[in-house]
Amino acid sequence: VKTLALDIGATKIAIAILDEDQNIQERLQLPSNMLSSIWQELEPLLKRFDVDRDVDRIGIASAGPIDLSRGSISPVNIPQWRDFPIVDLVKDIFPRKPVGLLGDGTAVALAENKLGAGIGVANMLGVVVSTGIGGGLVLNGKAFHGETGNAALFGHHSIGFNSGIACDCGRIGCLETFARGPKMVEYAINHGWSGGTDFIALAQSARDGNSTALDAIDKGSLALAVGITNVLNIVDIHTVVIGGGVSFAGPIYWDPFLKHFEEERSHAGFLNEVNVYPAKLKADAGLIGASLFVRELAG
Ligand SMILES: [Zn+2]
Repeated sequence: VKTLALDIGATKIAIAILDEDQNIQERLQLPSNMLSSIWQELEPLLKRFDVDRDVDRIGIASAGPIDLSRGSISPVNIPQWRDFPIVDLVKDIFPRKPVGLLGDGTAVALAENKLGAGIGVANMLGVVVSTGIGGGLVLNGKAFHGETGNAALFGHHSIGFNSGIACDCGRIGCLETFARGPKMVEYAINHGWSGGTDFIALAQSARDGNSTALDAIDKGSLALAVGITNVLNIVDIHTVVIGGGVSFAGPIYWDPFLKHFEEERSHAGFLNEVNVYPAKLKADAGLIGASLFVRELAG
């Protein structure tokens, strides 16, 4: 049994063929942020997979918001796709084959829960911290989608409604406006740092002892600690798996994050034994989650 999986993110669309054991047999990707018409690039690739690879089902993980009932997606960072009917379009290419759509954060959480850092845990929050902030929940061993597919889209819950800082989504003070990688870089630059333009450079500068870089990462990791604690406060679950490019920076990010998280969670009174794990599946978690989900759908 072969699954074709798509992972539609803010900067790239990954496409892969996975076998029954969720091993990736083939993988390619397109930039999603520089194409005027992404579908014109994507459709011929999918048609080629249909002809050449004889896939049995198709799983799609997408950045939110999504609409499960309509099978459409409106990723915040892909402005040319609004209510984009991805499920119908994919079904046109692969008639009579199961097509599953879920949020990319939910896909990551499901993959980490079944095959990654959260194996054996009934309830967990999966977090992706990179150019955006994504999240997903596994409850009672199953992906929890919410009513529309956007459960735990927690990058867009506000932690600073008095901050005056507008998010790309239009809301004031979203977690993303403080905690995503580019925002930490922007904060550093606004405070006189000139060591580069991306989070990799910022993290290296912090490792080299630059106080502005250290401060920017401290502030960003505090925001994430507040955001994660908010979610745990609401759902009372005690396992968190964190992945995404920012988290892969290692101790320079994790040390301040864990310090702030310990402080934040200590006030809840019931979040006394929380396990926080680094993600294991790295860049392929969304693809694997999409594949696991459509396997579950197909029965
Ligand atoms: Zn927002």
